Amino acid sequence: MAGYRVPHPDKPHIAHHARRQTIAARLVGVALLWSLVAVMAFVADRAVPRQHLPWKKLTLVDPVGAATRVKAARAGADPAACRAVLAAGGIAYAEAPASTQSWCVVKDAVRITSGMAPLKPADAQMTCKQALAVALWERQVVQPAAFAELDQAVVGIDHYGSYSCRRIYGQDEGPVSEHALANALDVAGFRLADGTTISVLNDWKDPGPRGRFLRKVRDGGCKVFLTVLSPDYNAEHANHLHMDMGGWPKCS
Ligand SMILES: [Zn+2]
Repeated sequence: MAGYRVPHPDKPHIAHHARRQTIAARLVGVALLWSLVAVMAFVADRAVPRQHLPWKKLTLVDPVGAATRVKAARAGADPAACRAVLAAGGIAYAEAPASTQSWCVVKDAVRITSGMAPLKPADAQMTCKQALAVALWERQVVQPAAFAELDQAVVGIDHYGSYSCRRIYGQDEGPVSEHALANALDVAGFRLADGTTISVLNDWKDPGPRGRFLRKVRDGGCKVFLTVLSPDYNAEHANHLHMDMGGWPKCS
């Protein structure tokens, strides 16, 4: 027939055939790889605790894990989701008034009213994101550390303030502090059930249980908050732990 050529078993034909086989093998390889990924994700979803899985919702019930900080930041960014996590965890809160004072713009702020060891003073206005991190830290870091090291509960958390319209270290110029956005808390110490107190200033270097407790709440705080600064960071923090949910991740 005119125009019809019988394919010869020559080199171009073999090369074409081999190329088709290579493509098929690659497709099978990719399919196998994706199947493996799907199986691993399925197994992880069932077997790995929720606190290590970023796609699972944050709760105040789960211990602190590898994905807690990511989940806290994500839940905190959504005002409704943030309040839902607080409410589901038994944390009562009151809405705090918004502030548009100079560059200290505060929106989405709350005050925790019950459900955790009370903050002292109680009037601590915080973004919902920061309040969520504080509640999570109190429940899953502070109380377990207190029982492990001191054999009792923490019944109050002393602080130097959350919201304050100022720049970093109170300077006239320079970066705006996370405190100016109600996105931080300066923790000064802890009141224990037996009536004694633990202070960052006096007990940070204690080699015994009191110091170990403080260092545990700092280290655990680093898995919840974005930034935690302790007396180890600099002399400005000799008497408090600065904990915030803004800026860059830093743990010292
Ligand atoms: Zn601070």
